[in-house]
Amino acid sequence: MLYLDNAATTPLRTEVLEAMLPYMKENFYNPSSVYGPARKVRSALDDARVAVANAINAKTEEIFFTSGGTESDNWAIKGTLAAFSAKNGDTPPHIITSAAEHHGVLYVCKHLERKGVEVTYLPVDGEGFVSPETLEAAIKPNTAIVSIMLANNEVGTVQPMARLAEVTRSRGVLFLTDAVQAVGHIPVDVEGLGVDMLALSAHKFGGPKGIGALYVKKGTALLPVLQGGAQERNRRAGTENVAGIVGLGAAIRLATEEIPRELPRITALRDTLTDTILKTIPHTRLNGPKSHDRLPGNVNISFRFIEGESLLLHLDMMGCCASTGSACSSGALEPSHVLMALGLDHAQANGAIRFSLGGNNTEADIPALMQILTPAVQKLRTLSPLYDDFLKTKE
Ligand SMILES: *Cc1c(COP(=O)(O)O)cnc(C)c1O
Repeated sequence: MLYLDNAATTPLRTEVLEAMLPYMKENFYNPSSVYGPARKVRSALDDARVAVANAINAKTEEIFFTSGGTESDNWAIKGTLAAFSAKNGDTPPHIITSAAEHHGVLYVCKHLERKGVEVTYLPVDGEGFVSPETLEAAIKPNTAIVSIMLANNEVGTVQPMARLAEVTRSRGVLFLTDAVQAVGHIPVDVEGLGVDMLALSAHKFGGPKGIGALYVKKGTALLPVLQGGAQERNRRAGTENVAGIVGLGAAIRLATEEIPRELPRITALRDTLTDTILKTIPHTRLNGPKSHDRLPGNVNISFRFIEGESLLLHLDMMGCCASTGSACSSGALEPSHVLMALGLDHAQANGAIRFSLGGNNTEADIPALMQILTPAVQKLRTLSPLYDDFLKTKE
């Protein structure tokens, strides 16, 4: 099986599973209990918090465990708005985000918009970048939060985050970045970036699913969204996902340690794969940044004259897992909102496939993929009326 969908999720690393197992077996105690064995579980949580903090250059007391990227995004936005309203009374809050965000941010904004919150969706350029000038111009006196992702899950764009966050800081506006695709893959330093909140998720870098964290800079006005027990220093109630947290700690430690080796290795794989596809298969284009400021594992290609969904089914039959980068909802083939935001037309957006490389991939995967991909594209094109028309106009 050829797994090229590491942006959707990554395989759980063996070392991580091994670290987790004792906390699903003998170390089952509630970390809030006072007896000795429970205190041992508590100290495992503390260790994991240190690992997450070290990985992103935060302080341990700035790390809060959540159920993953989606919850971290939801909490940061809803908790910021709650704090804004508590302070500003009737003044309706304003949110700024980008048109290319993950649904974990975008759909929270759409939901709040229906409830009367004003939202500005910043445009992105042809490679997915948000401009600091556009951001600056969008800030209003009632802007409560700006949410712009660090790295895009579909096209791999890595935003000029420090420059964007500098704009909001000078205007006293809180900044959240969804860094789910970045952490564990490229160096991430919350101090250097200058953000107030940052979302991360374990299963995108070799950890288990259903566990993540929100970095909350000391002093940030953020109210809880989950009420109940006093866990996470009164800010996120609910008995901790102990095994998951231990897994997050182990995975983030391994992944960040390996960045100096894996970042250049996977970047080289990405560039070879991109060049190979563009050279061997005609009528293809790369979506997203050409070379710089792109996630190491992201390759997003539009194949003219065919549907990405059909190509995916062909690849699947041949044992290759990839993605269109967007979930097709309710059977209707909606083009990806990210690719549309980049300015692609419907045909280009519907003909796109995302291959995302990870620690499990090697150089041998490239010829293995091409052996499947090239004939699949050829076959679908011979069946395509669009391709037929194109050939006729050339005659
Ligand atoms: C996967 C992903 C999420 C969601 O994280 P979960 O832990 O699966 O909820 C959010 N944002 C981005 C950019 C992602 O890639």
